Amino acid sequence: MIATVTLNPAIDTRYCLPAIQLNEVNRVSSIDRTPGGKGLNVSRVLSQLGIEVTCTGFLGGKNGEWIAEQLLNWNLINCWVPIKDETRVCIAIESKEGHTEILEQGPKIMENEKEEFLENLDILLGSNEYIVVSGSLPCGLESDFYRQLAEKAKQKGKYLLLDSSGESLAQGIHGKPFLIKPNKEEFCKLIGEWQVSLEDMIWHAQAICQKGVEFVLLSLGKNGALLVNSRRVLQADIPTLMAVNPVGSGDSMLAGFIYAHSKGYPIEDVLKWACACGMSNAVSERTGMIDLSQVKSFLNVIKVSEIVGGE
Ligand code: ATP
Repeated sequence: MIATVTLNPAIDTRYCLPAIQLNEVNRVSSIDRTPGGKGLNVSRVLSQLGIEVTCTGFLGGKNGEWIAEQLLNWNLINCWVPIKDETRVCIAIESKEGHTEILEQGPKIMENEKEEFLENLDILLGSNEYIVVSGSLPCGLESDFYRQLAEKAKQKGKYLLLDSSGESLAQGIHGKPFLIKPNKEEFCKLIGEWQVSLEDMIWHAQAICQKGVEFVLLSLGKNGALLVNSRRVLQADIPTLMAVNPVGSGDSMLAGFIYAHSKGYPIEDVLKWACACGMSNAVSERTGMIDLSQVKSFLNVIKVSEIVGGE
């Protein structure tokens, strides 16, 4: 069983309107609302792969109730910590001018809410083999919070996969998570370099593995991915696709990785499943959506090669 952690979820609201005019009344032609947050994207894709998923994090107010209700439609199990503040709303506006986002910062987490979350997590660590921790930290939690979660998972011998960026990722690595999944931009920020060759990326990823992270899964968008551990470096080449909406491809990739890893597939196939789920999401209009038969067909066209031989 798998648990996903989304500490700052949102109601993602998408407004479509012909044009947006400042200082005017703008009427929308369509509205779409979905439970948002990277962990929830991972959960949705895992559910489409037939895996039982428990979602945890913080939910508050009517917005929180709405999210929990929606997750039931995806056969996801709700195990949230209730909070005093209201869960946020994030707005995306599609108009002829382009794509505009208005993002609320989200609620501030109180000390007692944090303690309840940590107690809840201890219980979830007892019954779940994999824990996915994704996204940014809400106000009120210290920047090394992901390090604390990774340490707890390690103590209990569970696989914790961390998909974050900036300071929370940099500090999270010290907790020795099983896997981190930065994209290229996040990775460059992490290592503090902006022009990196393939060799540089491998070198730095191996240095991170030396610190106790088992795998670095470096996602490279339409250029595929690298999977690095302290012994092996695998590169996945993927065919060119017409991406429709690549948002959430990294989240879908994590779901594919967990699915194949939990089945005990060889690591080359695990990387293929990860890429295939990312690709299927990229060609779908909706975020965190895959098509299983398409994923299986992508598996046959992804080429995985070894860059550095095993020790
Ligand atoms: P997000 O943060 O939106 O979840 P990400 O930036 O973490 O995404 P990407 O590196 O963009 O993740 O993509 C993850 C995987 O999805 C890639 O390794 C690839 O397999 C697939 N993918 C993403 N974009 C494309 C694309 N344009 N064409 C084909 N495959 C793609």
